[in-house]
Amino acid sequence: MDIREKILELKKEKNAVILAHCYQNVEIDEIADYVGDSLYLSQKAVESDADIIVFAGVTFMAQTAKIISPDKKVIIPSLDCGCDMADMITLNQLREFKSKYPDIPTVCYINSTAEVKSECDICCTSSNAMKIVKSLNSDKVLFLPDQFLGKWVESQLDGVEVITYNGCCPIHNKVTVEDVKLMKSKHPGVKVLTHPECRVEVTQISDYVGSTTGIIKYVADNKDLNEFIIVTEKGVIDRLRRDYPDKKFYLIREDMICSSMKTNRFEDIYNALLNEKYEITLDSDISKKALVCIERMLKVSK
Ligand code: SF4
Repeated sequence: MDIREKILELKKEKNAVILAHCYQNVEIDEIADYVGDSLYLSQKAVESDADIIVFAGVTFMAQTAKIISPDKKVIIPSLDCGCDMADMITLNQLREFKSKYPDIPTVCYINSTAEVKSECDICCTSSNAMKIVKSLNSDKVLFLPDQFLGKWVESQLDGVEVITYNGCCPIHNKVTVEDVKLMKSKHPGVKVLTHPECRVEVTQISDYVGSTTGIIKYVADNKDLNEFIIVTEKGVIDRLRRDYPDKKFYLIREDMICSSMKTNRFEDIYNALLNEKYEITLDSDISKKALVCIERMLKVSK
């Protein structure tokens, strides 16, 4: 049996499900039950009746699955998979930020730790951020940790001031206006599809701004277009090239690679299933409070 078959057999034997984020190495899709962005995977974690969830993604995603499904065993194949953006704000930094702006609702991006979620009003993903902020019916909201997603949401909504924490994704933050201009000059007329974790000045000159799912959907919906400039993590373009071999995709920079997302190989997933580790454990009080924050988001997103 090759390693893929062994994984599929173990998965069946242990009633496990594998959730994979679309920034993972593209071959992981061959053994995953669901592949998608954070919102999609959170919804799949809620619906799943598996005993074990193997999360091929970064730590905050596995924590989210554990918070939503506290009775399930949630395992992550590697310990070396933190998200640099999520780690930019600690609980103490959150408290300090909130203390400067009392009585303003706090929205945290799903890319945040369980502790941080436990003290925020509602959570969001890049797919639903606008809808979530709007649902608060407030003329001011605090948004963390990603300043760029927060500012992009503000630019899309009339009359809402989004006060942002100064975090960002170091991968998306690499992209400059010059990168976009250069790519446009090499490929005139080609649409630029950008993730909202990019800098404001980059999203402003893009043709479409949306989550990874949104970018993939844009390509699927625009059947008459054959070329696209993709401004997000490399995993997305790998999947687009696989799924649309007749179309051309240009990655904005060759270094759009999140190393934390690329740690998982088949061997790691196999060992995770076999040894049932590394298991995600959370303080039950933190977990209960964070669940309220996530459930509010899931309710608004339905
Ligand atoms: S791409 Fe950025 S936001 Fe996404 S997991 Fe990596 S560091 Fe975190």
